[in-house]
Amino acid sequence: MSHTIAIVGSGPGGFYAAEHLIKTRPGLKVDLIDRLPTPYGLVRIGVAPDHQGTKNVWRVFQRTAKRPELRFMGDVELGRDLSLAELRERYDAVVLAIGAPTDRELGIPGEHLHGVLTSQELSGWYNGHPDWSHRHPDLVNTLAQSGGVAVIGNGNVAVDIVRVLARTPSEMTKTDLPAYASERIAAAPIKDIYMIGRRGPGEASFTPVELRELGELAETVAVVDGTQLPESIHAKDPKDQKLKEKILEILRGYSQNDGGSKRARLHILFYSAPHEILGEEGKVKKLVLKKTRVENGKAVDTGETLTLDVGVVVKAIGYHVKPLDGLTIPKGATSYPNENGKVADGVWAVGWAKRGPSGVIATNRQDSIEVAERLLKELGEPKADPRAAIDALLAERDVNVVTFTDWEKIEKVEGERAKDGAPRCKVTDWDELREIARA
Ligand code: NAP
Repeated sequence: MSHTIAIVGSGPGGFYAAEHLIKTRPGLKVDLIDRLPTPYGLVRIGVAPDHQGTKNVWRVFQRTAKRPELRFMGDVELGRDLSLAELRERYDAVVLAIGAPTDRELGIPGEHLHGVLTSQELSGWYNGHPDWSHRHPDLVNTLAQSGGVAVIGNGNVAVDIVRVLARTPSEMTKTDLPAYASERIAAAPIKDIYMIGRRGPGEASFTPVELRELGELAETVAVVDGTQLPESIHAKDPKDQKLKEKILEILRGYSQNDGGSKRARLHILFYSAPHEILGEEGKVKKLVLKKTRVENGKAVDTGETLTLDVGVVVKAIGYHVKPLDGLTIPKGATSYPNENGKVADGVWAVGWAKRGPSGVIATNRQDSIEVAERLLKELGEPKADPRAAIDALLAERDVNVVTFTDWEKIEKVEGERAKDGAPRCKVTDWDELREIARA
């Protein structure tokens, strides 16, 4: 008898854990469960469409998915189709690789006006996530008056959003940006994008490569007020020091740019904390920011304000995890409370579910390997093979599982529909995904 592990979530954290478990313990089996009928998690529906090089890691995960010990079970949702208790009872261990899918709130007045978007809804939309693909943000009427978009946050998600909104259709031809998004972004009368950090350049969490790309946009020029840039930045870690110096150097370059040199401007604003979003007839009109200075790493209000004319505000300020039946988590937790990946007896977490929304895709590899090692050490005698019992439960509940072979049918259609050097033309509708999977 061998062990069978349920991994919930087929993004990088889940796949890296699966690969290590299977490789390390001969005979061990993995059921890789995902609520989407498509695998690869954020690699497919989170990484920006113009970062195909990053997305290419799917090829590594595909090899794992084709291992005979692994069973992909798409369109099966934890909490809807199977409970955590049912998985814990039947599998030898459960690994939560379900990320941190809920956007954090700003907690300021006006946050729910028409024109305020979360990073998840916007990036889910332009990445063809079937939950968001039909919820087209209004980028035309909201921007008709001011042409101003505020993106709040100084992380790589904010940078992704700025870049995708600023790019022209010809800069996106070799990507998998869905046509509906490409057309709507091209039609949006964007004149000014503001990327807003509540602290300074030394505290920003975007990385140099991503920041540099903002200086290479065809029709948008990046500008920054040179007086916001310090002489030098001191980081505790020497590796961070190098990154911070690079960031400063790139920003210095942007401070020399002529804001009138291209059709639109990206204003990189520091020391500006969101205070209030003002609206008219329920729609965003202005964003009021409180100017700050940084003291002991914290943003402190200087008493000054700055008001921007904007029609769209995008919140790219981080995420928290979803509550799960059977697990107690503090409100707003950014990860499932765990000790080195162990959440409870027989329940483990990897990826963002373990450490919160941080790190790049490669960060998940070592992290998942370490958790998989600990999990293997704690395995007892194998339970009875759970697969027949789980299949029976799903059949009873009329759940049509999308297998990896079914997914390959979707992948094939997406490849056939791709034009002009695009890697794929994503199927973005739940019914169509299921129809193709079942064909
Ligand atoms: P992040 O790096 O933690 O950035 C979140 C940003 O939101 C920070 O600048 C934070 O400011 C700000 N923020 C939080 N609460 C705020 C508030 N109430 N008001 C104003 N600002 C607020 O997270 P992320 O951008 O969501 O990215 C998540 C992870 O994915 C990161 O590790 C990132 O590197 C990774 N990622 C990587 C790529 C890539 O490699 N290309 C692309 C996308 C994402 P404070 O610092 O002041 O709290």
